Amino acid sequence: MQYTVILVLIIVLTSCVSKTKKAVLNEEVVTTIQQDTTKQIEPIAIIDTTELEHQMLQAGLVNIQQIDSTILTDIRYSQTNNFLKKDIYGQYNKAYALPFVAQKLKQAQEQIKTVNPNYSLIIFDAARPKSAQQKMWNILDMPIAQKQKYVSNPQKGSLHNFGAAIDLSIYNDSTQSLLDMGTPYDFFGKKAYPKYETQQLQAGELTQLQVNNRLLLRKTMAQVGLKHINTEWWHFNACTRKQAWENYKIIE
Ligand SMILES: [Zn+2]
Repeated sequence: MQYTVILVLIIVLTSCVSKTKKAVLNEEVVTTIQQDTTKQIEPIAIIDTTELEHQMLQAGLVNIQQIDSTILTDIRYSQTNNFLKKDIYGQYNKAYALPFVAQKLKQAQEQIKTVNPNYSLIIFDAARPKSAQQKMWNILDMPIAQKQKYVSNPQKGSLHNFGAAIDLSIYNDSTQSLLDMGTPYDFFGKKAYPKYETQQLQAGELTQLQVNNRLLLRKTMAQVGLKHINTEWWHFNACTRKQAWENYKIIE
C-alpha cells in the first residue's frame, strides 16, 4: 500500500515538472515569435553588411531609403539585368548617396506624390565605387573611344563615384510597372538621348506619352536641383565634376 502511495506521488510530481518545462518551452517559443515580429517592423538598420557598404559609410554617404523609406530601389548592377549582363556589386544592393543628395531625393519623392500618389521614384543606381566602375570598364571588350560611350572612364571619375549622381525612373504602383520612357534603363543609343526627343517625337520614334513621362521626371528632379544630362534620360547630377573633386571624397 505504502509503495502504491509513493508510486502515485512520484507520477504526480513528474507530471508537474514536465508541465512546468512545457510552459517554459512555450514561453520561449512566444518570445522567439515576438522577436521575429519585431525584426520585421524595424526600419532598415545601418548595418555594415558588405565591403562596398563599408566604403560608402566611411565616405560619409547615407542609405537613401533611410532618409525616405518610400523611395523604391532596383539596383541593376547587383543583378544580371543590366547592359553588361554581369552582377557587379554582389551582395551589395542598396542606394547610397551624399546626405544632401538624399535630402533632394526625399523632396523629389514628396513632389512626385503630389502629381500622383501612386507614383514613386525608383533608383537603379546611386553611389558606385571606382573599383566597380573599373570592373565594368574591364568587362567591356571594345576600343576605348567606343567604351567611353557606355561607361565613364574610371581614370576621370564619374559623379556616381562620389555619391553625387543618381540613375532613376518613376514607378506606378497602381499598374505595378515603370512609366514608359521610350527605352529601358541603360539603353545605349540615340533613342535614350533627351537632346533628340523633339526630333524623335516628330519622326514618330517616341510617343507623346513617353516624352511627357520623361518631362515629368526631369521637372521633378529640376525642382530639387538635380540636373539632367543630354545622353541618358535616367541620369541626374547633383553638382559638377569639378565641385565633386574639390568637395567630396571619391569612393575607391
Ligand atoms: Zn548614371
